[in-house]
Amino acid sequence: MDFRKTEFIKSAVKPGDFIRDGRPQVAFAGRSNVGKSSVINSLVQRKNFARVGSQPGKTSQINYFLTEGKFYIVDLPGYGYAAVSKAERDRWGQLMEAYFASGLVSLGVQIVDARHKPTADDVTMMNWFKSAACDVIVVANKTDKCKKSELPGNIARIRETLDISQDTPLLYYSAVTGTEREALALALDCALDL
Ligand code: GDP
Repeated sequence: MDFRKTEFIKSAVKPGDFIRDGRPQVAFAGRSNVGKSSVINSLVQRKNFARVGSQPGKTSQINYFLTEGKFYIVDLPGYGYAAVSKAERDRWGQLMEAYFASGLVSLGVQIVDARHKPTADDVTMMNWFKSAACDVIVVANKTDKCKKSELPGNIARIRETLDISQDTPLLYYSAVTGTEREALALALDCALDL
């Protein structure tokens, strides 16, 4: 799969906007500032790409990108941003509930910060993936900011907090250095089997 051949398709703000064309959908999730856009940009090897479809202040929207005409990268709205109003948070929750209930998600990419214990919101998001019964790849991002000696402990804490088994792939990622970019591309290729 040539991830560079990815194009922005559309944004969805309500269930009626969801794409339902039968192509697989890989949903990328993560709290605001975890580096979700940067991970997507590193995957498609393009700068400032994942922000193409987003408008400032619009946190509750899902952005769809299509790779080689074969599958969608679904950029779910970031969560856990303190300055967001309750109304916006409610909109986010309703949109996520509708998306996960739709049965459209084929595979999840849950991005967490390699330095920290996953937040309650990260756990909630992981539970949504579990309830959708789809496979998940966990991307522990910003490993370039971790001491090597701290990483194993941090990763164990991430697995334990998210309550995922050793079968769930977890990548020691860095969107800045590109560490594990190839592994993520390969994991998506394998999981989608296109
Ligand atoms: P988003 O809100 O989750 O989409 O996060 P962004 O992709 O906008 O990244 C948030 C901030 O984290 C930016 O300043 C990025 O440059 C930085 N960032 C993202 N990924 C990494 C990483 O792997 N390592 C480091 N050191 N910084 C990163």
